[in-house]
Amino acid sequence: MQATTKLLLCETMSNPLLRVVDLRAMATECHRHGLKLVVDNTFATPVLTKPLTYGADLVLHSVTKYLAGHSDVTAGAVVARAAEDAARLRQIGIVFGLTLSPMESWLSVRGMKTMRLRVAAHSHNAQQVAEFLEVHPAVEAVYYPGLLTHPQHGLATMQGHGLFSGMLSFRLPDDAAVVNRFMQRSERFPFAPSLAGVDSSCSHPLYTSHRALTDEQRAELGITVGLVRLSVGIEPVEELLADLAHALS
Ligand SMILES: *Cc1c(COP(=O)(O)O)cnc(C)c1O
Repeated sequence: MQATTKLLLCETMSNPLLRVVDLRAMATECHRHGLKLVVDNTFATPVLTKPLTYGADLVLHSVTKYLAGHSDVTAGAVVARAAEDAARLRQIGIVFGLTLSPMESWLSVRGMKTMRLRVAAHSHNAQQVAEFLEVHPAVEAVYYPGLLTHPQHGLATMQGHGLFSGMLSFRLPDDAAVVNRFMQRSERFPFAPSLAGVDSSCSHPLYTSHRALTDEQRAELGITVGLVRLSVGIEPVEELLADLAHALS
């Protein structure tokens, strides 16, 4: 924090290592310093966590992801606690043309009608995938807040009402050939930089979301070539587990 700092931006659960932020502690600290807390709640969704109830001032969502949920919309939302922030954002949206087309608005609203059901199904599948990967001999580590071994499992349980989303990461040996072999053999987790659609997908953070960082920054974050991120869909889970077993064999 510097004298010019006005707000602090965090994710409810970080991409791609699923570290969980204590939102209440973060909000308390921000307000003590006169800052606004902005929370990107894309991974958690309002089904798991409503950051405004923990003291956040603004909440961001990539509607592209779980809110619309079917990989057919590019949209975003920002929610404000204070009426004056909401009015200002509305004005900025109008002036800069950040408003959605009718088709995308309709698809987003239509998707949100099933969000609660989808996010529960994503979470249940991801829990089983995480437990499967955690004991698989080819896998070095699994990052999923639903696992008892996750360092913030307790906080995640409290902030997520016992659901942990469909996002998880795992570590293969740091060998591009091993990761490529996995990605080529998996049929149910096709490579896709986006996430959170009803169909499962997989991404390689080193070459996608985190490619712009320096080698030092990536090493500090633990984003190495062996790190794979899965977006677990709502397919029958036994099909996903069979596919992963095949891809890792
Ligand atoms: C994808 C994503 C964004 C960006 O959203 P778009 O709809 O793709 O522009 C922002 N935050 C998180 C956590 C995301 O996963």
